[in-house]
Amino acid sequence: MDTLGIPSNTIEVLQKHKFTIQKKFGQNFLIDSHVLERITDAAQLNSQDCVIEIGPGLGAMTQYLAKSAGRVIAVEIDRALIPILEETLSGLSNVEILNADIMKVDLRRLIEEKNGGRPVKVVANLPYYITTPIIMRLLEEKLPLQSITIMVQKEVAQRMQAGPGSKDYGALSLAVQFYAKAQIVANVPPNCFIPRPNVDSSVIRLTLYEEPPVSAQDEKRMFSIIRASFNQRRKMLINSLHNAPELAADKEAVRTALLSMGISEKARGEELTLTQFARLSDLLGKDRA
Ligand code: SAM
Repeated sequence: MDTLGIPSNTIEVLQKHKFTIQKKFGQNFLIDSHVLERITDAAQLNSQDCVIEIGPGLGAMTQYLAKSAGRVIAVEIDRALIPILEETLSGLSNVEILNADIMKVDLRRLIEEKNGGRPVKVVANLPYYITTPIIMRLLEEKLPLQSITIMVQKEVAQRMQAGPGSKDYGALSLAVQFYAKAQIVANVPPNCFIPRPNVDSSVIRLTLYEEPPVSAQDEKRMFSIIRASFNQRRKMLINSLHNAPELAADKEAVRTALLSMGISEKARGEELTLTQFARLSDLLGKDRA
């Protein structure tokens, strides 16, 4: 079994299996051993860890993960990759390959079955066409996860890490930061992949909190407020929360809540911190009760 993370071996595997790269599955295979080491290091694995890898592709990263973790469950949607993975990962007894769509797998059950329900680590070079839905699913389902270490488009990584006042700050930043501490650990140029993507990439590690850093009485309402604020980003909060059909907030109630928090009634959502959104949600909930 050759190590895949170098161009010649990757090309050899692709040719040997006459594999056609599927754009629709976001297939950009890593061909840089330094980047593969960097991701594996960032995931901080030990022999007790069970890793879920999303989209193993040809198995380049899986080979690295298998060396550091106790067990790797690799979930790949493309059936054509399964015989290739069986070959490139042969001899690695701690790897299990599942042919499935990660959006449809019952992850809670999988973690129960494979790791007795104990927290697992997710590691992936994510397919870019579906990055945000995958991340949101992993976070919102409150699964037993310790960390999520992923390669994503650079702009998406910046959005996850951004705070108030930054142009990248938005609903994704707040959602991620409610559940996890986000840290960009590496930037990766297009020439580290076959085929080369049109964008720069970054590796980001999300370390999940046991308890969220802020508490909101009704998380669902808080996230509706956050989404409504950024759907109409340039509008004042008073208007964007009033205009959002699922909230239809009373303008006077929003004004009173903002002023009681020492925030200008003209404020836009992009100025508020996560703590302030939680407080605003609680105050508006009280008015509704
Ligand atoms: N891990 C490999 C690497 O780093 O070379 C491949 C990464 S490639 C960017 C993304 C992989 O995710 C592809 O193998 C693709 O087929 C797979 N994939 C795409 N959508 C998926 C889904 N919904 N569920 C599971 N795997 C998926």
